Amino acid sequence: MENKRVAVIGGGLGALSGAIRLARLGFSVQLFEKNPKIGGKVNEVVLENYRFDTGASLLTMPFVIDELFSFAGFTRSDYLDFVPIDPICRYFFADGSMMDASADEAKMKLAIEQLSPDDAEAYERFLKYAERIHDLTAEIFMFTPIHEFKKLMKLRHFRTLFRLHQIDPFRTVHQSVSHFFSDPRLIQLFDRYATYNGSDPFQAPATLNIIPYVEYGLGGYYIKGGIYRLVDALSVVASELGVQIHASAKVEKICHDDKRVYGVQVNGEKVTADYVLCGADAVVTHDELIGGHQQQRQRLNRLEPSLSGMVFLWGVRAKYPELAHHNIVFSSDYDTEFKQIFKHQQVPDEPTIYIAITSKTDAEHAPTDGENWFVLLNMPYLAPGQMWGKEKDRMRTVVLDKLKRIGLDIADRIDVEQVYTPEDFSELYASNQGSIYGISSNSKTTAFKRVPNRSRTLDRLYFAGGSVHPGGGVPLVMLSGKMAATLIAEDHQSKI
Ligand SMILES: Cc1cc2nc3c(=O)[nH]c(=O)nc-3n(C[C@H](O)[C@H](O)[C@H](O)COP(=O)(O)OP(=O)(O)OC[C@H]3O[C@@H](n4cnc5c(N)ncnc54)[C@H](O)[C@@H]3O)c2cc1C
Repeated sequence: MENKRVAVIGGGLGALSGAIRLARLGFSVQLFEKNPKIGGKVNEVVLENYRFDTGASLLTMPFVIDELFSFAGFTRSDYLDFVPIDPICRYFFADGSMMDASADEAKMKLAIEQLSPDDAEAYERFLKYAERIHDLTAEIFMFTPIHEFKKLMKLRHFRTLFRLHQIDPFRTVHQSVSHFFSDPRLIQLFDRYATYNGSDPFQAPATLNIIPYVEYGLGGYYIKGGIYRLVDALSVVASELGVQIHASAKVEKICHDDKRVYGVQVNGEKVTADYVLCGADAVVTHDELIGGHQQQRQRLNRLEPSLSGMVFLWGVRAKYPELAHHNIVFSSDYDTEFKQIFKHQQVPDEPTIYIAITSKTDAEHAPTDGENWFVLLNMPYLAPGQMWGKEKDRMRTVVLDKLKRIGLDIADRIDVEQVYTPEDFSELYASNQGSIYGISSNSKTTAFKRVPNRSRTLDRLYFAGGSVHPGGGVPLVMLSGKMAATLIAEDHQSKI
């Protein structure tokens, strides 16, 4: 084991997935998480009789988790029960209408037909188009470390590179969606998918229309007991494989010379390692943990962070059968909402409201006469002039008033409450300016500008997590852990 020691920074899903793979491959792995428990942005909180997931609420691409379990020598179904969610989401539009979205194509077509008869056929064409983008891009952009020239130049990828014009990179998500659908409500619904990796549908390239295919073509899931059960299960797997998990252990710096890293410093003590896998935000890591490399730091700080969010956890003492497990109450003007967020870094005056209620599926997450509401609003990343103390009070009133207008008068029924602002996301998870998905995909070139899974500046340093390739969201960060671990194993092989 002498030359196979890996120090892993952070206990988010990217790092944890990488740690498990490395342990399985025979490396000696120590993982350091600054918080008292691991999981990062996949977190859970219990407030009196109400239990909440405080981060991810919808699981896509569950096969990524299955593959990790089987690689590690475990069977996922022994640990986790994936529950398909139908409807995937209930949409409430500003004109008072609503629609249930489903991964069942017939149901979805019917729902669209009832909303806008002219658009039912458009949905079929849109889904085929999104599937084509998926088929052309998934291998390269999701499953390959694209900054690794040799891997990118494999023949099958090479062919795809010549067909990149077919992945719609020159229109925005909104332009493309508007081309397919005529009803503004459906345009807003499909525009929303750009937010799944923290981007703006009015700027992000239409290539992101891969996301609706991932949801409608491959399905949306919940994990029985809460999304945090995934962290519990991975923690068991990691421990069984010998990963040493150190909680409340903040890495203060990555130890390196001009060329290579040789360990980390934790709570004032040096931990020597042959490889460092960093799952903490890569921009913050370059700012705070790596000395020198000024140019790289400046370049990374020019990348635009993704959306942040404001979360209200509300234990509500009443039942609302008109709501589903996932719900969206749209703003009346999406364009203005995103201009305020991304162009002006302002809190939107009228935010779209997302409400996830796990007690709809897991009754024990709330008292019998109550529900556990996780309410998420899109917010700008941290910027000068914002006043989050005031904004959280203002948003609370805006949200409660808006919900009351659609018949959900909960103000006097809130039993317990907890609020998270972008400042809290920055503080809790050391995320770059409070961003919740790493770097935004608002530019056509973001995929190539994200931090690579293998450092270009320091030998033996590797990256996983939402701020690096292939980006944010549970399945993608788990794939980043796979890429980083594979690169470490390959590099190790070539060194012996
Ligand atoms: C409100 C919200 C809703 C979301 N909804 C969804 C969803 O529905 N579906 C979905 O797929 N994704 C969703 N996401 C995104 C998803 O949760 C993240 O992309 C993913 O969990 C990030 O994983 P990560 O590997 O980047 O690590 P992170 O979760 O960012 O964790 C990094 C960890 O590193 C630790 N750390 C940082 N610096 C140090 C240091 N110096 N020393 C030690 N430890 C350190 C942090 O404390 C943290 O625990 C959501 C996120 C949020 C916040």
